[in-house]
Amino acid sequence: MIERTIVILIDALGFELCRARGFAPAGLDRRARVRTVLGFSQAAIATILTGLSPAEHGLWMMYAFRPEGGPLRWLRLLPRSVSARRRWLRRLMEWNLRRVHGVRGYFSLYDVPREILPYLDLPARGDIFAPGGAAPAKTVLDELADAGTPARVWDYRVDEERSFDELETAVSGGCGRFFLLYAAGLDSDLHRYGTGDGRVASRLERYGRRIERISDAARRSGGARIFVLGDHGMCDVRSRVDLMPGVGRLGLSIPGDYIPFYDSTMARFRVFSASARARLEELLAAAPGGRLLGEEEMRSLGAGGAGGRFGDLVYLADPGVVIAPSHMGAGAVAAMHGYHPDAEDMYSVMLSNAPLPGDETALASVAGAILPGFVPAGGVGP
Ligand SMILES: [Zn+2]
Repeated sequence: MIERTIVILIDALGFELCRARGFAPAGLDRRARVRTVLGFSQAAIATILTGLSPAEHGLWMMYAFRPEGGPLRWLRLLPRSVSARRRWLRRLMEWNLRRVHGVRGYFSLYDVPREILPYLDLPARGDIFAPGGAAPAKTVLDELADAGTPARVWDYRVDEERSFDELETAVSGGCGRFFLLYAAGLDSDLHRYGTGDGRVASRLERYGRRIERISDAARRSGGARIFVLGDHGMCDVRSRVDLMPGVGRLGLSIPGDYIPFYDSTMARFRVFSASARARLEELLAAAPGGRLLGEEEMRSLGAGGAGGRFGDLVYLADPGVVIAPSHMGAGAVAAMHGYHPDAEDMYSVMLSNAPLPGDETALASVAGAILPGFVPAGGVGP
């Protein structure tokens, strides 16, 4: 029988933010600094729940390249004048991805242009917060379901206040062995307002009070191991780099020569000829505010080789720099994540009343801490 366990996963709960804001809910005396993975929340949450690196679980980025046979290839049949921003077209794309291609978890079309969408794929088809969600990789939720003690989960689909209310009630009631609550409100506050804003501080205070009430409820009903953790940190945005005009001036064609994908901190390129590669490399090597990641570095970061479905060339912005405009939308952001995991502000945190793997640990070690005996398995690689 597993010990009763409560996991509260707060998106963007960073080590530095907790230190600066004095975030320390009573009773959770153990604290570890947690190295995140290169990527965004999808990669990080999949690593938390599988214990595997992004290259191993295969869910590094929301969008992968798929020059032929992508789920949105039918867009090529529409007149060029129809923008992907048109509401009916967005609805149709979303319906198509969910109903025809079986995408069950979180995704967004953001501001990805019409001309790029036909050549993309969404590697994450499952719902990461449900059993089977990272298949073929095994998650802690799979292991719990297999053992006949399925986790109770509150994810991004449930209002945060309601999630905390229901978790507290469930813990007080004394039934259930494993609880997972995921909260995304802090991440969105940080993007909007930045790390120093009072609204971020008050959300952290609210979280602190909620967690203390849940700890009390657990103590009164037989005790529980409690883990509060984040998936990555957050860095205030200081400047921006615009890569699109320079890439456009190279005169290369999409999709003949290359396909680009501009995330907020990473520009990825699938390239189809040596000359296109050489020209992009030259341009990106000279672009300020970031650098091209080498093959070996990509591997050592657990993001796999640079070749293949996530791109042949990956340009990573320096901490505090955003790529703008990007395919993530034109809106300005006050803070961002998705930088190199060794950047000071990218480290996450894990607080607990139970033993932790060490003062310094990595996201891939979380699964074994929250579910002792869990052995990572499955996955796609490296
Ligand atoms: Zn975020």
